[in-house]
Amino acid sequence: MNEATVRPMITADQIAQRVRELGEQISKDYGDRRLVLICVLKGSFVFTADLARSITAPLRVEFLGVRSYGEGTQSSGIVQITQDLSRSIEGEDILIVEDIVDTGLTIAHLLDLLRTRKPASLKVCALLHKPSRTRVEVPIHYLGFTIEDKFVVGYGLDWAERYRNVPFIGVVEAS
Ligand code: 5GP
Repeated sequence: MNEATVRPMITADQIAQRVRELGEQISKDYGDRRLVLICVLKGSFVFTADLARSITAPLRVEFLGVRSYGEGTQSSGIVQITQDLSRSIEGEDILIVEDIVDTGLTIAHLLDLLRTRKPASLKVCALLHKPSRTRVEVPIHYLGFTIEDKFVVGYGLDWAERYRNVPFIGVVEAS
C-alpha cells in the first residue's frame, strides 16, 4: 500500500498567528464575562486547546461529541450526539468551537439543540469555512480561514481517524 503524504495548505505558523488574533478578538469582546467554550469532538480538540490559551477572559471548557461523517468524506446530513455536555449551560455565554464549517448542517443542528438549553448568548468560532459547499447558512462570529473545496486533514482533523496529529492543515495525496 502506498504511504500517503499531506500537502500543506495552511502552515503551523499561519495557524498559530490566526489563533492568537482570534483569541485577542474574543478576549476583547467578552472582557470579564465568564465564557463557556464548547469543543466539538473530535476534530476541534487541537484548535480548542490553542484557542483557550489565547483567550484572557475567564472560561471553562465543555466537550460535545458529534458524528456527522462516517469513514468517508461526504456529509451524511445526519448529526449524531455521541457525548453530551457535563453540565447545564442555562444563562451562560456559550462559544461553540468548531474545526470546519462545510455544508453548515452540523452547526445548524448544534445551534438548534443548544438554544433549547437557554444560554444567555450563543456564538460560533470556526477555524475553517468552505463557502462553496454551503447547504444551510449559519452565523460564524469568529472565523480563522476561508478555504476552497478540498478535503483537508491535520490540526485535529482526520481522514478515517488518521492525520489528527499533523501539526498543519493540508490535503492528502498519494505519493
Ligand atoms: P458540515 O456539517 O458543515 O457539512 O460538516 C462539519 C463537519 O464535517 C466538520 O466538523 C468535520 O468533522 C467534517 N468535515 C467537513 N469538511 C471536512 C474536511 O475537509 N476534512 C475533514 N477532516 N473533516 C471535514
